[in-house]
Amino acid sequence: MDSILKQYFGFSTFRPYQKEIVEKILDGRDCLVVMATGSGKSLCYQMPPLITKKTAVVISPLISLMQDQVMALKERGIKTEHLSSARNASSAQSIAESGQYDILYMTPEKALLLPSSFWSRMLKTGICLLAVDEAHCISEWGHNFRVEYKKLDKLRDILLDVPFVGLTATATETVRLDIISSLKMRDPHVTVGSFDRKNLFYGVKSFNHSLSFVDELVGELSKYVESACSSIVYCTTVKDAEHIFESLLKAGISAGIYHGQMSNSAREESHRSFIRDEYYVMIATVAFGMGIDKPDIRYVMHYGCPKSLESYYQESGRCGRDGVASVCWLYYTRSDFAKADFYCREANSAGQRKAIMESFLAAQRYCFLTTCRRKFLLDYFGQKCTSDKCGNCDNCTSSKKESDVSREAFLLMACIQSCRGQWGVNMPVDILRGSQSKKILDAQFDKLPFHGLGKEMTANWWKSLADQLIANGYLVEKYADVYRSVSVSPKGFQFLSSCKPDYQPPLYLPVTSEMMG
Ligand code: ADP
Ligand code: ZN
Repeated sequence: MDSILKQYFGFSTFRPYQKEIVEKILDGRDCLVVMATGSGKSLCYQMPPLITKKTAVVISPLISLMQDQVMALKERGIKTEHLSSARNASSAQSIAESGQYDILYMTPEKALLLPSSFWSRMLKTGICLLAVDEAHCISEWGHNFRVEYKKLDKLRDILLDVPFVGLTATATETVRLDIISSLKMRDPHVTVGSFDRKNLFYGVKSFNHSLSFVDELVGELSKYVESACSSIVYCTTVKDAEHIFESLLKAGISAGIYHGQMSNSAREESHRSFIRDEYYVMIATVAFGMGIDKPDIRYVMHYGCPKSLESYYQESGRCGRDGVASVCWLYYTRSDFAKADFYCREANSAGQRKAIMESFLAAQRYCFLTTCRRKFLLDYFGQKCTSDKCGNCDNCTSSKKESDVSREAFLLMACIQSCRGQWGVNMPVDILRGSQSKKILDAQFDKLPFHGLGKEMTANWWKSLADQLIANGYLVEKYADVYRSVSVSPKGFQFLSSCKPDYQPPLYLPVTSEMMG
């Protein structure tokens, strides 16, 4: 194995887990490999065919990604081909008959279309494994569900004794179990590498849509450009991407843009220029995803809250793949959280809708967090964390001020209590700010003693306080479909019961940027 590693790949040692996984595959074991992007998962399915002289079949979601891999492998003298959906059936048959390929790549659509005669020929000439790359696409609970992936279990029935290898960079416990059962894996060898990307700094800031904010953003990016460091700005919509792209060009910073509404060739051109350092900033939507193998990206900015922590982890994880200290900032604005409905449109069932909602809520919680962000991310992916403070995220490094918000907390919680947990946070905030809207008059909330008592604070100030009260367990938020309601928790009751109209016991909470602004 060591000599093959050296001969074909030019590496003298295996990375953690690689050797063990290759050995399990050679033993005929199914394997599930959950390891960070850049940790070297591909090698796990590229080695066995070179050792066994049988073919590895690799299912991969994107044709462009396969083309890159095929090219790189051919250069190393590994016989590789991809059966893209465009190729005709007879060429697939002749490839199967020739039996001389080390690795065959195909999309799940193609794999499902191939006739059983293809597979029986392949079995005759020898298949050493079937790898499913980006295996999280199998699960409705993953962040990128694809229907064709779900149907891959059909191949299991045809390729009875072939070891199946599922590979992904991000999978929670639920998604892992889902992959195992969807691919009908038998007693799989499961490897979960560390999710801790120690060289990445994580931080979050809130912003309001304003011209000055875009100026600030441009300023921040230009610092990286001046020192010839690459960065990616992920936007949640094509419109945002275009807006930021234009603002950068206006400021004289050359940048690339990449989104799903561009033609394939324009996207490829953008990608290539970025890889070749023709410009240092890429403004993109999530369409700029799999297959970005640029090791020296120093900064990944998210402009808008992403739809899940899985996507956040994966997108921010494109930063600092060479191990050098790099930075991930997430900028969110309150209106981002109204996008749940938008994301839920992708759902085909109530179950999927719930999964999408929950993933989005976790991302939202990440935004409001006042404790260690790394710990939160690692917890989310089911990895034990020994320390409460990583020292390399905004919450660990900045000495965030706390302030006594006892009076405001009392007003807000008492007001929420009067709404009897039937409203989201907007209603009590409107009451405190003295709104005379129809909704408020209809419910006679203008008669409440708190009506108008909170006018001196902005609506966002109050909402930010609500987030902090939720994060600290004084309030609980409930979701029924996309409707949310907020109510007072037992801990909140305890606080309320020790309050009097003219006296409230001290209650210190972190001061968020929205509360300062
Ligand atoms: P993943 O699929 O996990 O994102 P890749 O398989 O693309 O990661 O590998 C990331 C990089 O690490 C590639 O450039 C690859 O050549 C390199 N790599 C993989 N295995 C080794 C190894 N044993 N020694 C040195 N470099 C390796
Ligand atoms: Zn931290």
